[in-house]
Amino acid sequence: MLTDTSKRTRSESLFKHASKLIPGGVNSPARAFGGVGGTPPFMKRGDGAYLFDVDGNRFIDYIGSWGPHLFGHRHPKILQAIEYALTIGTSFGAPTEAEAELAQLVIEMVPSIEMVRMVNSGTEATMSAIRVARGFTGRNGIVKFAGCYHGHVDSLLVAAGSAALTLGCPSSPGVPAGATADTLVLPYNDCESLLAAFQKNGDQLAAVILEPVVGNMGCVIPTPEFLALLRALCTQHGTVLIFDEVMTGFRVASGGAQQLFGVLPDMTTLGKIIGAGMPVGAYGGRAEIMNCVSPVGKVYQAGTLSGNPVAMAAGIAMLNLIRDENPYPKLETTSAMLADGFQSAAADNGVPVTINRVGSMLTVFLTSNGVRDLSSATSSDTALFSKWFHGLLNRGVYLPCSQFEAMFVSAVHTSEDIEQTILAAQAAFATLKS
Ligand SMILES: *Cc1c(COP(=O)(O)O)cnc(C)c1O
Repeated sequence: MLTDTSKRTRSESLFKHASKLIPGGVNSPARAFGGVGGTPPFMKRGDGAYLFDVDGNRFIDYIGSWGPHLFGHRHPKILQAIEYALTIGTSFGAPTEAEAELAQLVIEMVPSIEMVRMVNSGTEATMSAIRVARGFTGRNGIVKFAGCYHGHVDSLLVAAGSAALTLGCPSSPGVPAGATADTLVLPYNDCESLLAAFQKNGDQLAAVILEPVVGNMGCVIPTPEFLALLRALCTQHGTVLIFDEVMTGFRVASGGAQQLFGVLPDMTTLGKIIGAGMPVGAYGGRAEIMNCVSPVGKVYQAGTLSGNPVAMAAGIAMLNLIRDENPYPKLETTSAMLADGFQSAAADNGVPVTINRVGSMLTVFLTSNGVRDLSSATSSDTALFSKWFHGLLNRGVYLPCSQFEAMFVSAVHTSEDIEQTILAAQAAFATLKS
């Protein structure tokens, strides 16, 4: 039984109103439907695997607030922790026991982290990690990969250009060329260009930063050779290898992609799941590197609300839930079922797709080319994706509103939710043929 969620008149008028007050009507551009057109539903409440909009429509949610909701919306253990924290005070600006408790959980769960610092977002985590890597090495150069996103940090907002081995230029007005002059952009999964970059500039490279499974050009999986070469070159040249696990941390395994692949970075950035829906980010790594951070070392980094007690309570509840329930085997089963269903629904309707998946992170690319980097990702048919996306949205399924994002399955999605989603996907694919 498919639902009809196409009537969204209240969302339409709210979007018009909000657009007069807030740029684009949104506080983060990914939500604005720029890639697919139309009006985003305004959400009223979430419950488990579902979101309910202001027009009373129910959607099966595969965004999960863009990652944090590993256990769906309003998990009782997380709610209880937040409610208790609220009763004892929202912020003290002084050390609390909860900060060490969350730090200890992170250190125990993420294999390469020996010390960690809490911040308030993924952007703050990557920005700080880059500064620390530069302070630690006394060098300025950074390598990032085309199609990887590390938040809106000036030095990392570099055009996803295909010109490997050329110095990056800013991709956003307002970022001075000087801020990205030391950033080298390389193609993902390309061992040759990585090797060449290190041969030429290895001694000037402070850090290499990457998403160890990419989510931000859609889901792209690293080859084992690429990860092994990254590790070897960084070790050889004294360059800090940073895994940006803001999305993959606690998502693809309890210890993130580094645990899944058995490749350990020198530093790790975290966000999203670590805050269970509250604003939390973190960066950590080898003690030798983290001891460069103020007040022990000279690299300055601070935050009035960092380690906020309500946010820490949410994070502690989330990580304890992960430890107690080990959701990953179930996530693997339901996510594989979803990917298989998408695959056969597409095949039934003669629509070529490439589905990339790691655990509960996946993307259906509308291309038959295989996707291993930005240029293959952008060979997808985005116009067709928009139609498919709206076909699903109008049938009660809420996917990320761009071809170049990953969708997330939560531990509370049931096989019934998955079946319903596959039925909607079938119907939406069928409309693409005409
Ligand atoms: C979401 C994301 C960020 C930015 O996190 P914010 O909390 O939005 O600042 C950084 N890196 C990766 C890999 C992300 O997915």
